[in-house]
Amino acid sequence: MSSTTDQLPEARAQRFFVKAFETAPRWVASAPGRVNLIGEHTDYNDGFVLPMATEQRTAIAASLTNDRTATLHSVTTGDTATFSLEGEVRRGTPAWSNYVRGIVAGFKELKLPVKGFNAVIDSDVPLGGGLSSSAALEIATATLLEAMAGRKLDPTTKALLCQQAERQFAGVPCGIMDQLVSVMGRKDHLLLIDCRDRTGKFVPFTDRSLSLLIINTNVRHALVDGEYARRRAQCETAAEMLGVTALRDATPAMLETARAKMDPLIFRRARHVITENNRTLEAARRIPAGDWEHIGRLMYESHASLRDDYHVSCTELDLVVQQAEQIGVAGGVFGCRMTGAGFGGCTVALVQAEKARRIGEIIGEAYLAKTSNYASIFLSRPGAGASLVDFSKPNI
Ligand code: ADP
Ligand code: MG
Repeated sequence: MSSTTDQLPEARAQRFFVKAFETAPRWVASAPGRVNLIGEHTDYNDGFVLPMATEQRTAIAASLTNDRTATLHSVTTGDTATFSLEGEVRRGTPAWSNYVRGIVAGFKELKLPVKGFNAVIDSDVPLGGGLSSSAALEIATATLLEAMAGRKLDPTTKALLCQQAERQFAGVPCGIMDQLVSVMGRKDHLLLIDCRDRTGKFVPFTDRSLSLLIINTNVRHALVDGEYARRRAQCETAAEMLGVTALRDATPAMLETARAKMDPLIFRRARHVITENNRTLEAARRIPAGDWEHIGRLMYESHASLRDDYHVSCTELDLVVQQAEQIGVAGGVFGCRMTGAGFGGCTVALVQAEKARRIGEIIGEAYLAKTSNYASIFLSRPGAGASLVDFSKPNI
């Protein structure tokens, strides 16, 4: 094993397992985090999103035991969870174990066997850092439970099971994007997801001179939950006024025709969703040809629309995007925008890989000078989806 693969979460989880349980694990399952290049607040409008799996992953090393208990240690958080697999699985402590408990409950609901096991979790996906460490943990767990049950779920069923676990056991009203891309992600590809039928199409992103730079502002304004629910309701109102099932079915022309009878704020909300869907589809069409300047412009337009029509940005996010724009194409930045629900969190920028670190430093320094906050910076190209190594099988 080279010194780099030695440092991967899969290898770290495996080594820790040997130390903790004094035997080698039978399996190591792992799953990536995600970044959404474009398509924001489109998911609950039956629209399109264009994420990729990150190179950062969460790994679980595990073996079966002879009892009916799950014992899991997270190297990331430094604590251990133990819970019984008999009867109904309930929420419990530590809080992170709820993601695992939720997946176990989902398997039991499908009448799949869940045997006792010992496991060690390690990860290089930042927790709460906007790369969806929650989905990475869920999908890694589900991948392990598939191996333990000797049954593979189809990707959509698996993603839905994990989404349900996050909703019911962690109380987060998440969409399907994070889980779907963590299952299906493919190296050097983005995944265009149609959130209506939850199908994905791979979009090749093979130009290795490009990378994605994720900047976490490390601020989160308290508005998020209430405003999120309000946006969803406003979108439903807009769809009703336009006579469509969801805003995904509306066109810019339909919106223009209805403008006079629409409340100006509802009109703006709808305009964001309708134009964002079109930008996402256009980006997916142009990526294989490497039309980076155009795709970058779509990202800036997406940000402006989220800021001015959807009102979900904030000064910190705007500041990062402004800095990126100032560095510009000459300095290696093609585009940048906020990503996630908004009111803080992360931006994503499309950058020249060889200049990425320097770009991150420049933006981070400017951000610190203006806000007295440190930004966290991550770099990733599109990585692979969930995977499993079974050490009981010969390595061929
Ligand atoms: P994000 O998904 O953006 O990283 P969330 O708040 O949705 O942020 O999920 C983070 C939570 O997921 C953590 O607080 C923890 O409960 C759980 N989690 C994720 N990865 C791990 C890990 N490696 N070990 C233990 N818990 C984890
Ligand atoms: Mg999450």
